Amino acid sequence: MSNFANKDVIELGAPQLGRREEEAVLAVLRSRWLAQGSRVAEFEQQFAQMHHKDDALAVCSCTAGLHLALVALGIGPGDEVLVPSLTFVATANAVLYTGAKPVFVDIESVISPHISMEDAATKCSPKTRAVIVMHYGGFPVDMAQWSDFANDRGLRLVEDAAHAPGVDSVGVLGDATVFSFFSNKNMTTAEGGMIITRESALLDEIRLLRSHGMTTGTLDRHRGHAYSYDVIKLGWNYRMDELRAAIGLAQLENLLPWNETRRQHRQHYSDLLAKKVPAVQVPFADGGETAAHLMPVVLPTDVGRLKVMEALRSNGIQSSIHYPPVHKFSFYEDQFGRQKLPATEEYAARELTLPLHPGLTGDDVDRVVASLALSLKSRE
Ligand SMILES: *Cc1c(COP(=O)(O)O)cnc(C)c1O
Repeated sequence: MSNFANKDVIELGAPQLGRREEEAVLAVLRSRWLAQGSRVAEFEQQFAQMHHKDDALAVCSCTAGLHLALVALGIGPGDEVLVPSLTFVATANAVLYTGAKPVFVDIESVISPHISMEDAATKCSPKTRAVIVMHYGGFPVDMAQWSDFANDRGLRLVEDAAHAPGVDSVGVLGDATVFSFFSNKNMTTAEGGMIITRESALLDEIRLLRSHGMTTGTLDRHRGHAYSYDVIKLGWNYRMDELRAAIGLAQLENLLPWNETRRQHRQHYSDLLAKKVPAVQVPFADGGETAAHLMPVVLPTDVGRLKVMEALRSNGIQSSIHYPPVHKFSFYEDQFGRQKLPATEEYAARELTLPLHPGLTGDDVDRVVASLALSLKSRE
């Protein structure tokens, strides 16, 4: 599938790039219109359609998209926003960009590493204005329940869907939902993101903020549709460009089949692990709807994770950790002090992410599990 894949190592994740992407980028260069234009508009339309929406907004990253969504929802200084700590740091950083305070919420358990509603309820204060849920590994949180949670308390609900493009239940109940097209995600534009919203008025507000708070776009002015413009808000330059949109359009053609291949590899992993390494737990083992972005496993408590990772690496197998908890980072401890999130900390200490991407073969999965089994056997 991928023309440029590294065959010597089993990569953790690998962008699927080929002739289609090459030709798409060349066509943009030859067109000589590089900044946000018709390809971005087409990419937005096609992405929106996949998520059963009328419109979507492409941005330069998911981080930028989260920032814009929060600003457009009126989040700012003095407000508190509930966030998981078990996420990429961008989720919490986006809250800080607005001047609001991220309040860290624990996960449900080590086999269900989603943000815990029970803990979220105890962390609500009169200042709480919003909650950001994150669809960890491509498994959607229970949006019906989170929607009730938010409605009961008058909170805005934002979905960090960096792991979950193409999942049907994602982007339906959240006020705003933001996807990432960073290079290691299920589809990529190198850097990039996309926003969908429940109400079109919010998307219009975000459109304004994406480009300096200006009332007309560069392309309109170039085409002579607009002779001047006004600035009516403080905005940013968080636009996407045509090169990235062209790559995105090529990727979008394959996203759903890629997600299906990921699910098949995940199932293969789960079956093999249960048989060959039953001491290792698989989160979200019940399955259900997923974009299968990650293959996380939870190692037994008496296992040295670093040794396992080194053993895998010596067999040419990449692995990683998702995630070092945000509340434990130096910057966050300096800002907000030491906090205890027991389930998050246990999960982060025991979690190991195995390779998962559409370029894997069944043999690769066999090799990873065999190597993991061996490294666990030799642990004494
Ligand atoms: C990758 C990621 C982001 C940030 O995405 P960018 O497009 O790199 O800004 C945010 N949240 C989560 C959960 C991610 O995995």
